[in-house]
Amino acid sequence: MPHNLTFRYCDFLAHPGVKCPRCWRVANHCCCPMVPTVKFRPHVIVLFHYEELGQHSASNTAVLLHLLGADLFCCGLPEHEARLQALLREDVSGTAVLFPSPDAVPAAALAEAEAPRRIVVLDGGWAQCKKMNQWLDPALPRCVVETATREEFGATRRYRGQAHRVQTASAFAALWRELGEDPRHVQAVAQGLSAFMSSFESQMGPVGRLTVLEQRSAAGGERM
Ligand SMILES: [Zn+2]
Repeated sequence: MPHNLTFRYCDFLAHPGVKCPRCWRVANHCCCPMVPTVKFRPHVIVLFHYEELGQHSASNTAVLLHLLGADLFCCGLPEHEARLQALLREDVSGTAVLFPSPDAVPAAALAEAEAPRRIVVLDGGWAQCKKMNQWLDPALPRCVVETATREEFGATRRYRGQAHRVQTASAFAALWRELGEDPRHVQAVAQGLSAFMSSFESQMGPVGRLTVLEQRSAAGGERM
């Protein structure tokens, strides 16, 4: 049942153990102070699949968007779902869902016609994102980015085999650029991503790994 997993995330927020509850890093690799807070022009929403939130894994990059200032919603948590649906009904034509559906429009073309006032980014595995996309009102415009690369932001070596996760953050950075947003904000997103990746590398590197294992055993085998 979804609810067990969403409650698992609520439990984590209440009792984060060895982890930072915001960036999901082990506390001494917390990158929160290095991530700038951005006052995004469009309202940014990250819709997490409940399993992603329940796992709060260090390799999830979408949580960075929340750190940067996006609002977090959980698909599978009835209260969040109701609030999100009400919010999205307010401005259907001014919203863009970042999802490569067959009718998706390139972000640059969307911005040229009319810059979106609200962006929804989906986070989960491919099948989960497809389901979340189906759950969202089909009348909401969908958009895609055309310039996202896994290599652009460096330090993604350790994300091999988890391409969709790299894409959540790097696709967002590309989206910002393609929408023609304030270059200072594009820069802040890139800077946040770089700090976020470095802290992941240091947590997963030989020294960090050891610290994690020590802390995990001290905390009674908490999962990463
Ligand atoms: Zn943190």
